[in-house]
Amino acid sequence: MKVAVVGAGIAGLCTAAGLSSAGAEVTLLERSPEVRGGGSGLSLFGNGLRALESLGLRSVVPDAPGVSPTTNGTRRPDGRWLTRFDPSAIEDLRVVRRSDLHEALLGRLGSGVDIRTGTGVREVHDGSVRLEDGTSIDGCDLIVGADGLRSRVRPAVVDDPGAVYGGYVAWRAITSRPLDLDAAGETLGRGRRFGIAPLPDGHVYWFASVNYDEDANPGGIAEVRQRFSGWHAPIEEILDATGPADVGVLPIEELARPLSAFVRGRCVLVGDAAHAMTPNLGQGANQAMEDAATLTALLGRTGASIDDALRAYDRLRRRRTQRIARQASAIGRVGQWRSASAVALRDLAMRAVPDAALSAQLRRIQDWQPPMR
Ligand SMILES: Cc1cc2nc3c(=O)[nH]c(=O)nc-3n(C[C@H](O)[C@H](O)[C@H](O)COP(=O)(O)OP(=O)(O)OC[C@H]3O[C@@H](n4cnc5c(N)ncnc54)[C@H](O)[C@@H]3O)c2cc1C
Repeated sequence: MKVAVVGAGIAGLCTAAGLSSAGAEVTLLERSPEVRGGGSGLSLFGNGLRALESLGLRSVVPDAPGVSPTTNGTRRPDGRWLTRFDPSAIEDLRVVRRSDLHEALLGRLGSGVDIRTGTGVREVHDGSVRLEDGTSIDGCDLIVGADGLRSRVRPAVVDDPGAVYGGYVAWRAITSRPLDLDAAGETLGRGRRFGIAPLPDGHVYWFASVNYDEDANPGGIAEVRQRFSGWHAPIEEILDATGPADVGVLPIEELARPLSAFVRGRCVLVGDAAHAMTPNLGQGANQAMEDAATLTALLGRTGASIDDALRAYDRLRRRRTQRIARQASAIGRVGQWRSASAVALRDLAMRAVPDAALSAQLRRIQDWQPPMR
């Protein structure tokens, strides 16, 4: 089977590795001059790790213990806890550096994958991929769109709804030195949130989200300091331990509407190309891994036709990913509430919900198994 995978992000790398190990002849096309994972961190949960396992890639994520602090949950800016997770609900959580994950996935592609970087895909049509440099790859049995939020493959599959801005931006970074933390999780204020996730080596991955006009221009770490001034410890210490050049900021966007299909003919979407979601459940990359594992398992079934496998993929993936995207979007909206009365109500409601119920929600999202091969 001749496969073109468009985009070498997490979705494309996992899909290329999976399909290649199942015997496909894979060409992986990446627009950037090199395959890189960016500077910040990423939370992987039990479902993403199970997907990697099914792809034979579990070892790309070190099996170091998950979050070590004694408490993980949600706080107010004054440090008072609103919810605490049951440790068993996050026992599989692994926080990794994106750059490490990319490098490890790239290293697992094997010689069966032909990687072409530095030229983007312009369009796909009838088993052909046309590249921006004027060349094309013809006669593909399958084209996988793994080219992210602004996918060029998506219009070949569905009426493309495009991206929509969520109304807030997120700064992200990893501290340049380890810190001793006794707690992790997210702190909710008025129109702003701060998240803390320690890496196994003690460095801390953090993010800070703030409501922002779409056409405004967010600043660097100085703005983060100012926006989160007076918030509980160790937020200031975390910012002090972060190199200004290590801080990135980006608008939070998602698909404007859920797609009516992930598959059309021999073209299939995976990862953000299929279901770009806001990061509020930390599931975008985990779902991309599930997509790759599902597609690989279905196409790898003995005697399965490609068309049957693609139909099953659409059925298995669309509902689950779109439900998670909806939940993530709603959590983001409530998390970014600004009005004092709404925030007071939110905090009250969060304190009233038993910790066990929130932990159960986290467990439900992670409760996923790859299809049998
Ligand atoms: C602030 C923030 C925090 C997040 N935190 C988490 C988290 O903790 N856990 C989690 O699971 N998810 C998280 N996510 C989501 C996660 O980052 C994404 O869902 C995931 O990276 C998507 O991977 P992808 O491969 O589908 O897309 P991308 O990472 O966008 O990769 C697409 C690739 O395709 C390439 N490309 C694009 N167009 C073309 C073209 N025309 N031709 C060729 N190549 C092309 C791009 O250069 C890129 O390499 C977060 C997202 C944000 C914004």
